[in-house]
Amino acid sequence: MTIVEPSRTTSVLGEYDVVVVGGGPAGIMAASAAGRAGRSVILLERYGFLGGAGTAGGLSTFCGLHARVHGEDRRVVHGLADDLYERLERLDGLAPAHLTINDGILAQAFDISAYKYAADQLVTDFGVQVLFHCVAVGAVMAGDSSIDAVLIESKSGRHAVRGQVFVDASGDADLAAWAGAPYEKSPGLGGMLYPSMMFRINGVDAAAAGEKPWRTAERLMDEAEAAGTHHFPRKRPIVRPQRNPLEWRANLTQLRNPDGSAIDGTDVVQLTRGELQGRAQIFDAFSFIKDHVPGFEGSYVVDIAPQIGIRETRRIVGAYQLSEDDVLDCVDFDDTIGVNGWPVEAHVAGSVEFRWQRGEQPRGFNQMPYRMLLPQGVDNLFVAGRCASMTHEGQSSARVTGPCFVMGEAAGAAADLMLSRGGATADVDVATLQAVLEKHGVFLGREPS
Ligand SMILES: Cc1cc2nc3c(=O)[nH]c(=O)nc-3n(C[C@H](O)[C@H](O)[C@H](O)COP(=O)(O)OP(=O)(O)OC[C@H]3O[C@@H](n4cnc5c(N)ncnc54)[C@H](O)[C@@H]3O)c2cc1C
Repeated sequence: MTIVEPSRTTSVLGEYDVVVVGGGPAGIMAASAAGRAGRSVILLERYGFLGGAGTAGGLSTFCGLHARVHGEDRRVVHGLADDLYERLERLDGLAPAHLTINDGILAQAFDISAYKYAADQLVTDFGVQVLFHCVAVGAVMAGDSSIDAVLIESKSGRHAVRGQVFVDASGDADLAAWAGAPYEKSPGLGGMLYPSMMFRINGVDAAAAGEKPWRTAERLMDEAEAAGTHHFPRKRPIVRPQRNPLEWRANLTQLRNPDGSAIDGTDVVQLTRGELQGRAQIFDAFSFIKDHVPGFEGSYVVDIAPQIGIRETRRIVGAYQLSEDDVLDCVDFDDTIGVNGWPVEAHVAGSVEFRWQRGEQPRGFNQMPYRMLLPQGVDNLFVAGRCASMTHEGQSSARVTGPCFVMGEAAGAAADLMLSRGGATADVDVATLQAVLEKHGVFLGREPS
């Protein structure tokens, strides 16, 4: 059933060089890079804070900023990420990097509140205008292949935000889809990565929890599952201490529809189902942890993420799709914009599967091509972050924070070059872009970082 709405006139909120939709890792860096280059930039975000899944999804860990390079753990994502790291350190909001996934790679925990504030500071110090509490709801085209404005809705009503260049960092390729760019979406059954709802536990007795207690939690949960006394939504739970070992983060839910398919983050009914199911799974699993894991007797759930964490929805089919082979074979590209060192991390039904870079002590990272930011058929749009041009398997790796920072910074810098020289996103001189990125400290993967 449909109804016909009356046509309307929409007031223009502003006109900008660069309009960025979505304030997650990719959007933060895209807006900052374009602002750093002196462009007028607006960053549109539906929540009242930045960070995307890192804050709204409650992740509290940076993955993909490090790689295991020929057996040695190194940070390989720099550029604007260094600036963010310094701000987080000044706020005492960054834990030392820790080994994860069977000690195969480094990740780094952060305090969610500190990340929100550090991201505020980063973008505003680069002159970016942030607009919180607004949802992008549509695109107005200027001809077939160019976007004129993004339509937003908020407590102030409906507005248009005009721009010269747009960056879709919505995670869901919302703007790209509205503009008519081709995209893929994996099937919910046996395809799309399953979402999770993250939570944090406080009041853990660190001394009683013992050494490497996360292994105890995982072992006890596995044993209970094997004994048939308990059933958990997924295998390979992550229950680990934050910077202060009083506080722990827990990543052990998996959200699905009645037919077993993954909750689709672009379907409001399924999103609602996921929120309800996620909180039920959390309190069910937490009661096991509190009752069985040493040190958790006096603990409590201090925070449930504001929304379920969505790993995958739309992925654009752009000028090049980053693939699993690219990741596992540590492939190089002439148009590299930075690197990704995370393995393929597939959230399949009931479990998580990891696939590592191939070979004996491999280089441990692949380069990411500029072309993965370029949608087909829309000349003034970059797509950065987890909805960039990747196959399902490639995205299962390069969707984590580090590579999203890389894509965002490259998109923002490329937007500036495009505005300087005219033409479309595909016309940007890649050698110049690479020189700009390297000048700002980005590691392009061409020599040891
Ligand atoms: C449960 C879970 C656990 C994960 N764990 C980790 C981890 O430990 N470490 C790690 O590095 N990565 C982890 N990831 C991966 C994580 O998704 C990525 O790291 C990253 O957040 C993706 O960045 P992004 O900028 O592409 O998109 P997102 O982080 O999804 O950000 C998109 C932003 O756009 C906003 N937005 C979306 N649509 C609109 C709209 N129409 N209008 C206005 N604003 C909009 C959103 O509110 C959000 O702020 C996890 C993911 C999930 C779901």
